[in-house]
Amino acid sequence: MVDLQGQYAKIKDIVDPSIEEVMNSAAFINGPKVHQFQKNLEDYLGVKHVIPCANGTDALQIAMMGLGLKPGDEVITADFTFAATVEVIALLQLTPVLVDVDPVTFNIDVEAIKKAITPKTKAIVPVHLYGLPADMDEIMALAKEHNLYVIEDNAQAIGASYTHKDGSKTKAGAIGDVASTSFFPSKNLGCYGDGGAIFTNDDDLAHTIRGIVNHGMYKRYHHDVVGVNSRLDSIQAAVLDAKLPLLDKYNTARRNAAKKYNEAFKNHPNIITPTGLEDKDSDDYHVFHQYTLNLKNVDRDALVAHLQEKNIPCGVYYPIPLHKQKAYTDERYNEADFKVTNDLVQSVISLPMHTELDDDQIEFITSTVLNFINNK
Ligand SMILES: *Cc1c(COP(=O)(O)O)cnc(C)c1O
Repeated sequence: MVDLQGQYAKIKDIVDPSIEEVMNSAAFINGPKVHQFQKNLEDYLGVKHVIPCANGTDALQIAMMGLGLKPGDEVITADFTFAATVEVIALLQLTPVLVDVDPVTFNIDVEAIKKAITPKTKAIVPVHLYGLPADMDEIMALAKEHNLYVIEDNAQAIGASYTHKDGSKTKAGAIGDVASTSFFPSKNLGCYGDGGAIFTNDDDLAHTIRGIVNHGMYKRYHHDVVGVNSRLDSIQAAVLDAKLPLLDKYNTARRNAAKKYNEAFKNHPNIITPTGLEDKDSDDYHVFHQYTLNLKNVDRDALVAHLQEKNIPCGVYYPIPLHKQKAYTDERYNEADFKVTNDLVQSVISLPMHTELDDDQIEFITSTVLNFINNK
């Protein structure tokens, strides 16, 4: 699905010296590289505060701790996403409220959020799924009306921009009260191990979070709140700081690959190609963490098996709706409210998507998919 070896071979000359600097300084924890990367990411995103941490799951958890959410508070998020989002809500003894997604964007459905709001609702967690920002103007307006926090899960959309109704643009992750991201190796900005970060424009919240990531310490050995130990180590920061200047180029390579895929599958009666590349869309709207088709009247699992036979990697993100996962079922849920997710888990397939895809590979992948579907 990704070609991390091919990517590393091309950037070894810039990544290795950055890592070596850390090795020579031996400042492995909280070294100058971490601070440097933090500043550079703040500038890139146009956000006041970046707080690096150990991974994207911690980032979500720490964001929720920073907001002071309390057991029993309801947090609304999408049914169709990676489990980390709902996991941390449950772990903090908050009440997850899963809602359906939009059939075109696959992002959280604003009408479904409206229906799920109760007096106990405290926050909404939109996930910018596959690299496409959720409908943030609508979500922020709804949150304002009901006095709710918005926590953006930006693990899949770093570098994407959201165009507001007035035409201005904001980077995904710089819109809500707070946002989280992941630097897992296969993410659009990936390090060579685990890493994550929290973003916010709120000075007080940033201060609170900086203490939480460091055992609740604001002054050495004074523990004011219950915190965690969650750090981005200096070697990972060195990798990320070397790769950050390439992020826009990498996202453009992903979009170009997506355009070629879309062209090959255009107007096919059994294939719905992803949105986000229309003329009206800005050139950094969808950053294609995944390239995902929605199949109609195709045996998706047979196609998966066929591609595997031809040594073409593919993925199903995600095969089970979160509300049907054993850990997260709840008798309050009603199947009729999850129509879109229940369909998508059976019809989506993600094709290889990374920065090193070439035309021959795309041609081989698309012709194999089309041959299978056309000959059924
Ligand atoms: C990857 C991912 C996470 C978790 O990130 P980790 O760094 O693996 O903990 C959370 N949410 C979404 C949507 C993700 O894709």
